[in-house]
Amino acid sequence: MFNFSFQNPTKIIFGKEQIAALTNNIPPDSKVLLLYGAGSIKRNGVYQQVTAALSDFTWLEFSGIEPNPSFETLMQAADLVRREKIDFLLAVGGGSVIDGAKFIAAAAVFEGDAWQILAEGAKVTSAISLGCVLTLPATGTESNGNSVVTRYETQQKLAFSSPLVYPKFAILDPTVTFSLPVKQVANGVVDAFIHVIEQYLTYPVNSPVQDRFAEGLLQTLIEQGPLALSQPDDYDVRANIMWAATMALNGLIGQGVPQDWSTHMIGHELTACYGLDHAQTLAIVLPALLQQQRRQKREKLLQYGRRVWQLQGTNEEHIIDQAIANTKAFFQQMGVPTQLADYDLSAAAIDTVVAKLVQHKMVKLGEHGDITPDVAQQILQQAM
Ligand code: NAP
Ligand code: FE
Repeated sequence: MFNFSFQNPTKIIFGKEQIAALTNNIPPDSKVLLLYGAGSIKRNGVYQQVTAALSDFTWLEFSGIEPNPSFETLMQAADLVRREKIDFLLAVGGGSVIDGAKFIAAAAVFEGDAWQILAEGAKVTSAISLGCVLTLPATGTESNGNSVVTRYETQQKLAFSSPLVYPKFAILDPTVTFSLPVKQVANGVVDAFIHVIEQYLTYPVNSPVQDRFAEGLLQTLIEQGPLALSQPDDYDVRANIMWAATMALNGLIGQGVPQDWSTHMIGHELTACYGLDHAQTLAIVLPALLQQQRRQKREKLLQYGRRVWQLQGTNEEHIIDQAIANTKAFFQQMGVPTQLADYDLSAAAIDTVVAKLVQHKMVKLGEHGDITPDVAQQILQQAM
């Protein structure tokens, strides 16, 4: 196992009727900016619960943060934060609103052009405090330091990370997920599943604690994901998915082990260029990537097949084939397609995506740094 130091500072407040708890978790006397998206929170009652809990605070709101939040919109919010001397951001929504809030938190106090945080990896040295109410279990952003932002003008989707943008608290009330469209429930399960895979399906470093946590999360998502579609009113199913998605990317299972993240990096380019949902891109890339990397990932693929999918027998090539086939079938069972052609994308799209990877210096991806542009091209061809 590799060395690590681990701290996750986000307080998780989980369960029914917990939105009211935000009153006691925002520092008293804060001037709060409530951030949200296109308005789903007004239709499902979350906005009303949040504003009731804010009644003792001075607060303003900024709405219209898009799915795959745009740099352009977020910079408007950052201006508002500066103008109004906001000292606490409250993000209410899915990954896009929370990722957006993290960028606003950093950009509002950044000296210079805030695009540098994303494009050049400029260091974030201070940020406005934030907290969140999560409405879509998927990204894990509610308790991590990551954020992904898209510059619409140039079709660039880029990420940054900083310990300064971890939410101070995250309120997870599974009942707020009942209003999610089926497509978003499915996307969330697939995104969380692939977050676990990115940290687990690499090469062995003798880390049974991390491995078995990861396998437990994968099995939970394989079991509960389809139940969320067949029994959409089941609270416990929603709760299990919500907690699994948080645990998938709160840092815990990734400590001391190699990490991949190439599926995400290739997927980000697909979203930026063609507007596919984040999870849709991952469900296309991952099966093809596992096939392409089956030699490098051999030992973990066998472990994954045997432990997660309970595959038996001594024919190792067959176990690997079946593990990849089961993974693909799981995404399809969730209603998420697994081929580029399902979105009418052709070979020209592959060239565009690979050129974007080169532009963003993503030329040595994966745990071995061996996913070069040529290899990414092969993976996308396989995903056709
Ligand atoms: P999202 O983009 O935040 O939301 C998708 C849609 O779901 C929006 O239209 C939103 O509507 C709606 N929605 C959210 N909650 C709802 C609810 N309870 N009921 C009804 N509709 C609801 O989706 P996401 O998958 O959570 O986030 C995707 C983003 O996160 C991508 O940009 C991705 O790259 C990023 N990401 C970040 C991390 C990380 O670690 N930071 C990891 C993976 C992915 P409204 O606009 O009306 O709210
Ligand atoms: Fe993701």
